[in-house]
Amino acid sequence: MGFKSDIEIAQEAKIKPINEIADYVGIPDKYVENYGKYKAKIDYRYYNDELVKKPDAKLVLVTAINPTPAGEGKTTTTIGLADALNGLGKKTMVAIREPSLGPVFGVKGGAAGGGYAQVVPMEDINLHFTGDLHAICAANNLIAALLDNHIHQGNKLDIDLKRVTWRRCIDMNDRQLRRIVDGLGEKPDGVTRQDGFDITAASEVMAVFCLANDINDLKAKIANIIVAYSRSGEPVRAGDLNAQGAVAALLKDALKPNLVQTLEGTPAFIHGGPFANIAHGCNSVIATKMGMKLADYMITEAGFGADLGAEKFIDIKCRMSGLRPNAVVLVATIRALKYNGGIAKDELQAENLAALEKGIPNLLKHIENITKVYNLPAVVAINKFPTDTDAEVELVRKKCKEYGVNVALSDVWAKGGKGGEELAKEVIELTKGESTMEYVYDVNAPIKEKIEAIAKRVYGADGVDYSPKALKEIKNLETIGLGNIPICVAKNQYSMTDDAKILGRPTGFRITIRDITASAGAGFVVALTGDIMKMPGLPKVPAAEKIDVDAAGVISGLF
Ligand code: ADP
Ligand code: MG
Repeated sequence: MGFKSDIEIAQEAKIKPINEIADYVGIPDKYVENYGKYKAKIDYRYYNDELVKKPDAKLVLVTAINPTPAGEGKTTTTIGLADALNGLGKKTMVAIREPSLGPVFGVKGGAAGGGYAQVVPMEDINLHFTGDLHAICAANNLIAALLDNHIHQGNKLDIDLKRVTWRRCIDMNDRQLRRIVDGLGEKPDGVTRQDGFDITAASEVMAVFCLANDINDLKAKIANIIVAYSRSGEPVRAGDLNAQGAVAALLKDALKPNLVQTLEGTPAFIHGGPFANIAHGCNSVIATKMGMKLADYMITEAGFGADLGAEKFIDIKCRMSGLRPNAVVLVATIRALKYNGGIAKDELQAENLAALEKGIPNLLKHIENITKVYNLPAVVAINKFPTDTDAEVELVRKKCKEYGVNVALSDVWAKGGKGGEELAKEVIELTKGESTMEYVYDVNAPIKEKIEAIAKRVYGADGVDYSPKALKEIKNLETIGLGNIPICVAKNQYSMTDDAKILGRPTGFRITIRDITASAGAGFVVALTGDIMKMPGLPKVPAAEKIDVDAAGVISGLF
């Protein structure tokens, strides 16, 4: 095909020493903690000691239409847009999530952008980076160890073995660990019980980490995590196990935002990585806030489509942190629009105007959500693929114009920042005013009312049905004082409905809430639709099979 792979482009890049990048945004040396030559952590004390008085950057959220399984280029667009803004002389930073090893070795691949819009060093970022995910994993498992030890040592809290809600975690797609029995053996070997692992990105510790404003807030949130219920039905919290101090100690370095650079030298924070289906799907509050003091524009991404990621960004992250985006970039690809128009994954490359037209209502529904429900100005970025035809791009432009929203063709994957100038100019225009953001629901409304607001206003559902189990748990949560916190709907990313196969812009459907759980530490209630996996499996041919490293330590096969 003649295209260089992401990793080839990344390995050819001339990376600047990270201290030069820190200098560009004026970070004093004493706050820069180097992790090798090209990565650094920035001390959070910098924020409270010096940055807090500074004005905030304009905040731009990059989100997308309902994607294909390959992803539609939000990260690529986020990075390319920031490069374009810097190219136009606007001091701009990026804040995105840290990749999880699950997708890296599974289907989707890494999450460091693509083509000429990437963050580097991409191998490090996609693999262990600065060790944050390992720290979060250890923190999660410390709570598990303390919990089972408490039971083994006499169970003073009278924990009900059938109501332990805390699970172990590992940063890997490993379905074998989804349901396990542990504590097998003799009496000294612990109490035998059913248990299981989630992927680290789905752990509540990850969510807590990303929503904490500082170490003290982190500790308070950890102490609040519900790990089990007692036999009389009282919640048992990590604080009851005195876990918060040691857990926060394990996370103290991880909590410092990681500074890296784009291929064009734009400073980027890559920090925290909760999934967007079962968790809230955005990078850490600390990184976003710090970056907003260092630059005039902060470009950030929320996972999956605007029905999941953008809604949670606004109703969870912004609500808890006081952040307010000024504008939204809605990424669409021709291939995902055709996918939404009912075309199979392996036929998306061929021109198909009829399928495209059938898929465009999905884009229009997301535009409506952003402009009318979240009340924010939007621009559609068509992320251009080499296989797109001019006729296809023109059709999308025309349909969006009819809908009154501007479209910018983004070619950052092929051309870097130069390919994002049209989009950058739109973003500069859209962010001129103050934020007009509105939440989807009143956080003090009853749980069912909040879920219904999301289902009806954002997904376009007629209503919501609940399993008896979910109804019981809603009652329990309202009784124990968790009725007035935000909702995190766990839904598949492909459909506005809870059935991943119903694409486009569905109408006349209802959402079923199968189960409800509390992330009392993170401060949200998770409403589960359909079968959402907290521990994914690997596909038949995992991406891991193509990844290699040579004698010189050069890695290949990452994408
Ligand atoms: P998202 O953040 O929406 O999940 P990414 O930005 O990670 O998506 O992109 C997903 C994959 O698609 C990456 O491997 C990236 O290299 C590739 N990609 C993104 N944009 C383009 C494009 N315009 N042309 C070709 N490949 C692209
Ligand atoms: Mg992404």
